[in-house]
Amino acid sequence: MAETVIMVTGGSGLVGHGIQLALEEDKKPNEKWIFLSSKDADLRNHEATKLLFEKYKPTHVIHLAAKVGGLFYNLENNCDAYMNSQMNSVVLDLCKEYKVQKVVSCLSTCIFPDKTTYPIDETMIHNGPPHFSIYGYGYAKRMVDVMNHAYNEQYGCHFTSVIPCNIFGPHDNFSLREGHVIPGLIHKAYLAERYDQPLVILGTGKPLRQFIYSVDLGKLIIWVLREYPEIKPIILAVDEKDEISIRDAGELVIKAFGYKGEIVQDLSKSEGQFKKTASIAKLRKYLPGFKFTPTKQAIEETVNWFRKNYETAKK
Ligand code: NAP
Ligand code: GDP
Repeated sequence: MAETVIMVTGGSGLVGHGIQLALEEDKKPNEKWIFLSSKDADLRNHEATKLLFEKYKPTHVIHLAAKVGGLFYNLENNCDAYMNSQMNSVVLDLCKEYKVQKVVSCLSTCIFPDKTTYPIDETMIHNGPPHFSIYGYGYAKRMVDVMNHAYNEQYGCHFTSVIPCNIFGPHDNFSLREGHVIPGLIHKAYLAERYDQPLVILGTGKPLRQFIYSVDLGKLIIWVLREYPEIKPIILAVDEKDEISIRDAGELVIKAFGYKGEIVQDLSKSEGQFKKTASIAKLRKYLPGFKFTPTKQAIEETVNWFRKNYETAKK
């Protein structure tokens, strides 16, 4: 059987580790997986990236690499976030040049239009501007979908994309300034417990989010790579009924820590888009029986990982 060489850009991050954890139970003998980090090459640099394609000769690519941050990172760094488009152009063009058989890139439910009807589905990506807080990141990601169709139509490439909701899990970025809400609250709860200080939740806690565990997302991305036939993107998120408020997410974190201290709200802070409720009808059509890890259990596992790995965790 011919060997499949799967090169994962951004393989050292949250989602890359989600795929690695998922693979522990789903290895295939003919698949060779290569997980890259920015230390292997800066993917904005065409020459350095080309050397990776020469070295590994990938038959398949999962393109995760990006400068990624939560609401407060994106609010202040729309230009840097837009520069992800540089990386996307370099990677996709080399995938064409090296005749990579399939590429799966990662978009996000953040990129959907701000003013919209709900639930949002895959056909609505380009229907109006993204939320102002995230337009740099949003437009760069939207262009990946445009490029996927253009490469397919002009060159016959099989480039597709997935659209995950908010992700969390082991190896997340737990930075208080740059990270997303769940890793941020986990880090804050850890500090609140350790230094006997209040845990501050930013905003009212009312906005709603779908949260997916990185290991579940890893399983789904592996399925997309092996089986999903379309160029059009597919939303990878938990069911709409499992969308929860930021407040509820905070409570799950607090329970996982057994934190009994003071909790305060900082109402001066931005709340971002109120909700981005995404439909997973398409995912359910392909995988009706897929079981997501309950959010409570996934948060407990992430908290346990963070406690164990506090010294080395990205923060
Ligand atoms: P992450 O943990 O921050 O990891 C980012 C990865 O990209 C790391 O491996 C990093 O390498 C690499 N990288 C960054 N800049 C690079 C560069 N210039 N050259 C080469 N590699 C570079 O991010 P993540 O959360 O796993 O995100 C993975 C994908 O999912 C991204 O495309 C993101 O937009 C998408 N996504 C994330 C979320 C979320 O909630 N986190 C939600 C929806 C979609 P180093 O480790 O060496 O820095
Ligand atoms: P988003 O889903 O792209 O908006 O990004 P985040 O994962 O950063 O979630 C932002 C939402 O969580 C906003 O409604 C914030 O007001 C709220 N939030 C509450 N506390 C925190 C926190 O400590 N860090 C972050 N990033 N967001 C927080």
